[in-house]
Amino acid sequence: MDNHLHVLEVNTSRREQFVDITPGVNEFLSRSGVKEGVCLVYVPHTTAAVTINEGADPSVAEDILTQLGSLVPWNNGYRHTEGNSAAHIKTLLTGPEKIVPVTAGRLMLGTWQKIFFCEFDGPRKRKVIVKILPG
Ligand code: ZN
Repeated sequence: MDNHLHVLEVNTSRREQFVDITPGVNEFLSRSGVKEGVCLVYVPHTTAAVTINEGADPSVAEDILTQLGSLVPWNNGYRHTEGNSAAHIKTLLTGPEKIVPVTAGRLMLGTWQKIFFCEFDGPRKRKVIVKILPG
């Protein structure tokens, strides 16, 4: 595996949960030695996703999860026999990837921004792929 690609492991503890993965992404970016480029954060799952949002007040993540639950009820006459269509739909809404600019060896996140792994059907052992693209 090349030194600009890294897989973070995330062990979630609840069915629905935002996990701040910013420290793990930052650590890998530092180790990569890349100063300028972009950082791709990609989640290779169908019931989990990644987002960037406020990390200062944990109530924001809870409010987002509550509102997503109102928009996409767990039980709604879905056909998928695994019984987790709500998680698939929340993943559709949130998306599998985020791209963050890198300059001077740092992610250009705003003051209040954190990168969150979004669990929608946990608890599970998950992976997040982090790829640094120099340039
Ligand atoms: Zn499913």
